[in-house]
Amino acid sequence: MPVNASGQGFCRDCLALQRAETRRCTACGSPRLLRHPELYSLAIAHIDCDAFYAAVEKRDNPTLKDKPVIIGGGKRGVVSTACYIARINGVRSAMPMFKALEACPEAVVIKPDMEKYVRVGREVRAMMQALTPLVEPVSIDEAFLDLSGTERLHGQPPALVLARFARSVEKEIGISVSAGLSYCKFLAKIASDFRKPRGFSVIGREEAVGFLAEQPVTMIWGVGKAFAATLERDGLRTIGQLQKIDQSDLMRRYGTMGNRLFYLSRGQDERRVSPDHEAKSVSAETTFDTDLAATGDLVPVLRALSEKVSLRLKKAGIAGRTVVLKLKTQDFKTRTRNRQLADPTRLADRIFQTGLQMLSKETDGTRYRLLGIGVSDLSDDGKADPPDLVDQQARKRALAEGAIDSLRDKFGRKAVETGYTFGKGRNAHPPEPLDD
Ligand SMILES: [Mg+2]
Repeated sequence: MPVNASGQGFCRDCLALQRAETRRCTACGSPRLLRHPELYSLAIAHIDCDAFYAAVEKRDNPTLKDKPVIIGGGKRGVVSTACYIARINGVRSAMPMFKALEACPEAVVIKPDMEKYVRVGREVRAMMQALTPLVEPVSIDEAFLDLSGTERLHGQPPALVLARFARSVEKEIGISVSAGLSYCKFLAKIASDFRKPRGFSVIGREEAVGFLAEQPVTMIWGVGKAFAATLERDGLRTIGQLQKIDQSDLMRRYGTMGNRLFYLSRGQDERRVSPDHEAKSVSAETTFDTDLAATGDLVPVLRALSEKVSLRLKKAGIAGRTVVLKLKTQDFKTRTRNRQLADPTRLADRIFQTGLQMLSKETDGTRYRLLGIGVSDLSDDGKADPPDLVDQQARKRALAEGAIDSLRDKFGRKAVETGYTFGKGRNAHPPEPLDD
């Protein structure tokens, strides 16, 4: 096995090792060669399916292959995923659908089939788990993998294992992935995003600081639009500028985020790949056909979404301790409110009641286009909703909920509608999770 030979690499198509500095594979002629001086000493990977939902739809309907395809909801919905042909035409994830269709009128729009995507996502994950037990899913179609120490098991260094994996996913599942390989999660994720689709990028220890210096601050995990604007006001645009500032200085200016800026800007990320963090939250949200302001309109939606969240928690055997309410205003501003409970819950009624308390402070005449509710702080449901700690009224509702659940199990979801949701579902779309 070629280990630590600088400049050595392999062909991503036939996996033949490349010893000479040729531009094409000496075995199969493919130009998809991977070379890097640290190629065989890196073991932290990030895998991300390419335009996942769209890729699954194209796989299942070959007539779509060369057409621009958008996965998303109705007129007021947003783009969940755009295939690469649609992206060339300017369509982006999270873009309102009418804008996407302005940019690409010939696009084929397909409603998301979440059950199918979850199924395919699980197949991909199962293939990852065959490589290492250390798989940390980030979303339905992406995960971190720690492949350190697996070389003996596979008889190959992680880089080759990953290339073989990408090939197998294409062959066996019929969609493509992009891979990033590095020595930490932060850089592995950046690398996987580098040359999509069908990408494979490597960021080594030697080049990390120099590479990061050229990148914008927004590349740092946790730096969103608002925080980037703050940094911009302080004259900080590139990660290189952050690299020149002391840790204490960054912390004084930006608190705990300053600490993160300090370490990540220098390519230092100690976070482990942890298979336990499978889901960090469970939530459901909905975009309205017409913006809503009245409590009477919002409450039934909140109730329906709380039930959806609760159902997922119960199915997964988990519970959440923090209830999170999300609202998006008419002008696309997001409001997030959260409240921690004394103990984890999986009950629709507790999620709803807690959400309602938070919602009542936000119904001030503002018009909302989106409402979401969820729980985070997840644990298994062993300690959830202890009967003696929940007040009597809530306990009665909990018992009723148990009865409703068993009826629904027998006769289906629609069989039992609570007073809040009955006949009020017409404004709501199914949630449209985003995917890149
Ligand atoms: Mg993806």
